[in-house]
Amino acid sequence: MAYDDSNIFARILRGEIPCRKVFEDEHVLAFDDIRPLAPTHVLVIPKGHYTSAQDFAEAASEAEIVAFVRAIGRIARERGIDASGHRLLANHGADGRQEVPHFHVHLVGGRDLGRMLP
Ligand code: IMP
Repeated sequence: MAYDDSNIFARILRGEIPCRKVFEDEHVLAFDDIRPLAPTHVLVIPKGHYTSAQDFAEAASEAEIVAFVRAIGRIARERGIDASGHRLLANHGADGRQEVPHFHVHLVGGRDLGRMLP
């Protein structure tokens, strides 16, 4: 799917819309979800323009992929939801109800999330 740079996360990356920043480095930005489903609900996004996990895995550099995965672990530790547990979720496409077409992972935790999606 072609990347549409008018999406809200692209606008956050350009600084056009504010966010509650949790983490940033050369390759990754993470910020609090505006409609949190749990005490911790952070969105972790690559700075590169990828719509899905598949696009990211195929087109991103190894440095981007490593930075992305490490950022998730670092944020989980910093939020104190490493030992207690948490959930990682990436919605994709229509059936996945992906709302924002810029690849992102939801990092959700801080309560018992139950067996189904939060
Ligand atoms: P998804 O695309 O279905 O995975 O969900 C997109 C997520 O982005 C939702 O959980 C929204 O609450 C969140 N969201 C939408 N706009 C903003 C924003 O401006 N700041 C932070 N989170 C947002």
